[in-house]
Amino acid sequence: MNIHEYQGKEILAKYGVRIQRGIVAESPESAVTAYKEIAKMTDSTFAVIKSQIHAGGRGKGQIVGMEQHGVQLVKSAEATKTAATNLLRNVLVTHQTGPEGKVVNKVLIAEDVYYPGDSEPKEFYISILLDRTKGCNVIMASTEGGMDIEEVAENTPELIFKEWIDPRVGLQGFQARKVANKLGLSGLANKEMVKFIFSLYKAYESSDAAMFEINPVLKTSDNKILAVDAKVDLDDNALYRHPELLALRDKAEEDPMEVEASESDLNYVKLDGNVGCMVNGAGLAMATMDIIKLYGGEPANFLDVGGSANAVTVEAGFRIILKDPNVKAIFVNIFGGIVRCDRVATGIVEAYKSIGEIPVPIVVRLQGTNAEEGAAIINESGLKVFSAVKLKEAAELIQKVLK
Ligand code: GDP
Ligand code: MN
Repeated sequence: MNIHEYQGKEILAKYGVRIQRGIVAESPESAVTAYKEIAKMTDSTFAVIKSQIHAGGRGKGQIVGMEQHGVQLVKSAEATKTAATNLLRNVLVTHQTGPEGKVVNKVLIAEDVYYPGDSEPKEFYISILLDRTKGCNVIMASTEGGMDIEEVAENTPELIFKEWIDPRVGLQGFQARKVANKLGLSGLANKEMVKFIFSLYKAYESSDAAMFEINPVLKTSDNKILAVDAKVDLDDNALYRHPELLALRDKAEEDPMEVEASESDLNYVKLDGNVGCMVNGAGLAMATMDIIKLYGGEPANFLDVGGSANAVTVEAGFRIILKDPNVKAIFVNIFGGIVRCDRVATGIVEAYKSIGEIPVPIVVRLQGTNAEEGAAIINESGLKVFSAVKLKEAAELIQKVLK
């Protein structure tokens, strides 16, 4: 689960990480109020307004149809109001949002942490994430902060330093010092960076996160080290242990169809093709998408209806698939192991009738326990449903009905 920058920073602050402070606003008026508060707090007229969306690259990103970036330095209440008006309810496109962009519903009014006259503010990159290959957490750090880290990884990978953490002993002092040294820091800045890394690691571990990415980490001329940005991904499977983190979920940032699917306990991921898929089991769902492609089709989605493919889950699955206007055919691929194929077939027929007319052809492939009985139920139902027993047959049928 992704969360917003301001929420990530709140977690960081709780664990003692120094952050760029800010106040969230959802209207131009409250943005102005927030600006005045920040100005009073910092005794400065400089502040930054930052779009809160679940995507990075906001600084370089642009609001559609406007000369407005997703992050902007503001020096007055009027400038704040103008920027907030430009940003809120409008679509921000960054290299991470895709061309369709994301609607900005909230902005963060933050203190300007880049001191005027600071001749050498230094921006670093630091992230902590799970290295699945090595089975442990890794700290990634680079002197090339503030930039697109994918670009650094592509062009100058030697400038990204990695330190792996042994899960049996956790982060050790020498490791945090090694990172600080690699970043070229000495004296007080080095000490502050070591503290920063320890607090960041604690925040990551304590919230069962999958990633904390801080880009940039800023070193000011008076050797303060602080998090200017926070991109946080929390491990979905651990959220049951953190109700306070689960409460940070912002459904407005998620694909509405994926939200609806998760409410029906379906595992749905929208894709770009025209063949809707409904499958029981994630592995079979992957194989189904592969075979659709192999026969020249394009899957419209990944959908795992789970172990109990009954009339209720099948109906919910059909409804979600049919919301996608690109879908021209549906491929139902169920393996009857514990669940019997005749039961699934009855479920499909019931779901079909309860939805009414399904406007696209459906190919059903039932395999496993009582597969033949299942196929008979489908064939005798009188519905516009084609049945197949072999996967290959089903994939060929899909191509035929698409023509
Ligand atoms: P991202 O583009 O989505 O990664 O958003 P960031 O939070 O990283 O902000 C983008 C850029 O805005 C940063 O790399 C900084 O250069 C700049 N920025 C952020 N905060 C401040 C600030 O307090 N003062 C100034 N002058 N620039 C800032
Ligand atoms: Mn950033």
